[in-house]
Amino acid sequence: MFEVDLKPRRLADLATVVPAERIERLQERVVPRMKEQLGGGAQIINVNSTASGGGVAEMLHVLLPLTLGVGLPTRWFVLEGDPEFFALTKRLHHRLHGNKGDDGHLGAEEAAIMQRVAEQNVQTLLDNITPGDVVILHDPQTAPLAAMLTERGVPVVWRCHVGVDHDNLYTEEAWEFLRQFLYGNVGEYVFTRPSYAPDWVAPDRLRIIKPSIDPLAPKNEELSEEEILGALSGSGVIAGPGFGGVTFARADGTRSPFTIQAEVVREGEPPSADTPLVVQVSRWDPLKDMAGVMEAFAEYVVPESDAHLMLVGPSTAQVSDDPEGQSVLDGIIARWRTLPDEARRRIHLVSLPMDDPEENGALVNAIQRHAAVVTQKSLAEGFGLTVTEAMFKARPVLASAVGGIADQIDDQVSGVLVADPRDLEAFGTSLNGLLADDEARDRIGAAARRRVIDVYLPDTSLDLWNEAVLSAIRHTRT
Ligand code: UDP
Repeated sequence: MFEVDLKPRRLADLATVVPAERIERLQERVVPRMKEQLGGGAQIINVNSTASGGGVAEMLHVLLPLTLGVGLPTRWFVLEGDPEFFALTKRLHHRLHGNKGDDGHLGAEEAAIMQRVAEQNVQTLLDNITPGDVVILHDPQTAPLAAMLTERGVPVVWRCHVGVDHDNLYTEEAWEFLRQFLYGNVGEYVFTRPSYAPDWVAPDRLRIIKPSIDPLAPKNEELSEEEILGALSGSGVIAGPGFGGVTFARADGTRSPFTIQAEVVREGEPPSADTPLVVQVSRWDPLKDMAGVMEAFAEYVVPESDAHLMLVGPSTAQVSDDPEGQSVLDGIIARWRTLPDEARRRIHLVSLPMDDPEENGALVNAIQRHAAVVTQKSLAEGFGLTVTEAMFKARPVLASAVGGIADQIDDQVSGVLVADPRDLEAFGTSLNGLLADDEARDRIGAAARRRVIDVYLPDTSLDLWNEAVLSAIRHTRT
């Protein structure tokens, strides 16, 4: 287990986007109450299984510097595992989403693997815990740590970032497997939607928190047209003048010049700056259905418009808790090679290095801002951060009406939803509709940005997190 270095962020920095009365309420009422009830010096310790890549790491990078900034001692530890462990937790992830994943079991042998990894990691955590601290464990990878903490009297919050609305045999199997680690060992459970929680979670221990985005992060900050085109052309994503010295902001307030180079699978030239782009940014995960976006685009959009498609994901070697990435990307490349020439020329498969997560985020920002339409054609989705990110940038988002996305987008108002995530024709037709209608794209994009400011900025979730932590303390004492 290792610790992620956190730098405090001032809540007041959010004032350029968050209404002043919301910030004042937090500063004057919520934070003082939290400090009083937590007691001087008590730490809020978070544990997850990757420091970068994917939504959970993204969210922690937003919230933890802010909690630290309001004066609550906050730390972040990352649990380390081996390939056997991550193959197992990936299976769990799939089954919690209602899919088989692979042929493996979730039995006693697998429970022993989870337990072994927790035992290898727990000492670092225990060495850093002081009396009064609360631990927030994230996702299934951390589940066996709950008992090890609870038996020492440490209050535990377990935050599950995944889930589906309707259970099936796979979700039931996965929850039964996790129950042995969690039941009786967690003070407070946090889910994204009430329907995601298994029925053995008591209602008085269940709290719903929607993930939020950091409006000022390198991934979301405002960019000028010159910065967007410089970043995109310099990194090889589109054609153009090159970096020309454009810089991006880091979380610590400094600026660095862009140097990142995208790894692009394409045929022919990069698209010009005025080519309309359809973009999906996702990990290379079957549930994100990048392959389905490509099929729908090739079949329904290529004949109807001159848009290009860009499927963008992290460089596959660099997301430690996602062992499937390379094979998913390989499958997509293999299929891309067999597409008709015109479709192949207009579809670009882009992998972005993660060595510097802030620069990676800044380039994702430029790509999302440059998109004519952003898609998220997930087959299942706990909550799509990429959806919120694109909405904040006033982009029209076309997405499947699955899981949390159905809360995020109000259909035809702040985005467009496709009811059946496997319906390629409906997806392609909606995409053509948006690409052909400038007015609709502008109107939907503007409503999308308003919705994110109202509901999905971090001040709102800080408040709820404080409640969750206090409630875990109460439940552990009683
Ligand atoms: N992401 C990124 N670089 C990439 C691909 C994805 O920074 O090359 C980010 C993306 O912007 C988003 C997160 O990874 O913030 C993905 O979160 P989401 O909730 O959409 O999906 P998850 O990966 O958690 O299933």
